[in-house]
Amino acid sequence: MTETKNKIHSEIPVEIAGAGPAGLAAAITLAHAGRQVIVHETQKEVGHRFGGDFQGLENWSTKENVLKVFEGLGLTTDFNAPPGDKCIIYDPKGRSYTIKSDEPLFYLVERGPGPGTLDSALLKQAQSLGIDVRFNSRLREMTGEGILAAGPRAADAIAVGYHFETEMGDGCWAICDNALAPQGYAYLLISNGRGTVKTCMFSGFKQEKRYLQRTVAAFERLVGLEMRNPRPHGGSGNFHIPRSAYSGPHPRVGEQAGFQDTLWGFGMRLAVSSGVLAAQSLLHGESYDRLWQRDLKPQMETSVVNRVLFSLVSNRGFSWFLRHLESRPNLRESLRKHYQSSLPKRLLSPWAKRRYESRRKDVTCDHIDCHCIWCRSECCAHD
Ligand SMILES: Cc1cc2nc3c(=O)[nH]c(=O)nc-3n(C[C@H](O)[C@H](O)[C@H](O)COP(=O)(O)OP(=O)(O)OC[C@H]3O[C@@H](n4cnc5c(N)ncnc54)[C@H](O)[C@@H]3O)c2cc1C
Repeated sequence: MTETKNKIHSEIPVEIAGAGPAGLAAAITLAHAGRQVIVHETQKEVGHRFGGDFQGLENWSTKENVLKVFEGLGLTTDFNAPPGDKCIIYDPKGRSYTIKSDEPLFYLVERGPGPGTLDSALLKQAQSLGIDVRFNSRLREMTGEGILAAGPRAADAIAVGYHFETEMGDGCWAICDNALAPQGYAYLLISNGRGTVKTCMFSGFKQEKRYLQRTVAAFERLVGLEMRNPRPHGGSGNFHIPRSAYSGPHPRVGEQAGFQDTLWGFGMRLAVSSGVLAAQSLLHGESYDRLWQRDLKPQMETSVVNRVLFSLVSNRGFSWFLRHLESRPNLRESLRKHYQSSLPKRLLSPWAKRRYESRRKDVTCDHIDCHCIWCRSECCAHD
């Protein structure tokens, strides 16, 4: 009788809303265990909102290399991922600091539907396992077993800039300056003649155009940025630690749940990890809340403390901060420690949570007659 019940159960497909890294990681984990899966993707292709964006797959939050972590989770690493072991960061006065590490600090991955991207690789693996990925399919209602992986529901930070072609050589550059990226950072990534330049802002959203102009001008001055065929690109990030990551009976994963690195927005790993955990919870009948609270919450709570501390750093403080990063003999290990839960960070956590909550609403944007990415993300409707 139980066997028949299990058989019927495994023949009913699990539905997943969203073919981002979170949804596809969940789908692949379920398919490996023999479950049928249907993934609904509202866009016509994977990674639509990123369209060729370069992103850093961070390699510091675990001792084990991130690509090995992916392999251990049964996920493909068959995507382009040049290692990033060096980055030049500038302080507000234009002084440069070279941060480097013996092991890669991150892998530069491309997002979007093209060849070699993270999204295409996960899609290919999913389809090879027989997962039915349905494009142009917006899931409006979920009746049976399912996972919500539909991306950000609010915007706590925005990143705006350009994608472009260039004659410049490969590299990674960043600027810490509140006049370019309030409480955030500006960055420039170039690989194989293509690049992205962005200001990643945690406040001041309504003035995004002004901050972007200053960011481009600063990179032109500091590193000789040259863009051919610049195309505007931007997006938002949703950073929130929920009490429960269920919506009714359905687990929410990735940014749909608000799971993000609140410090700097390196959300891809949390998206993938939470997708895998949600799938495991369905497979083993365990509570998803228990799993993510055990495996992901301590790191996310630490990142809220890190965010609040970082947002208190003034332009003068950035010089000290960057000197400190530059002097670390093993930066990957130092960052790993910063990302781990520790007694001081746990003690600061209640204070940081109170401060961070109040900052989720950007007081510099009144939402009136405004077309900033924050307002375009309809975040105000959710707040
Ligand atoms: C400009 C920018 C730069 C970033 N840089 C980095 C970086 O360097 N490193 C890093 O780690 N992270 C970075 N991030 C964050 C990272 O991209 C996200 O955290 C990650 O993509 C979240 O994955 P996800 O699967 O939760 O959501 P998404 O990748 O947003 O995927 C959700 C999918 O669901 C689909 N969808 C939405 N609604 C429905 C529906 N009702 N039915 C079906 N499908 C639906 C969407 O079309 C989308 O394809 C960046 C984000 C932005 C915006």
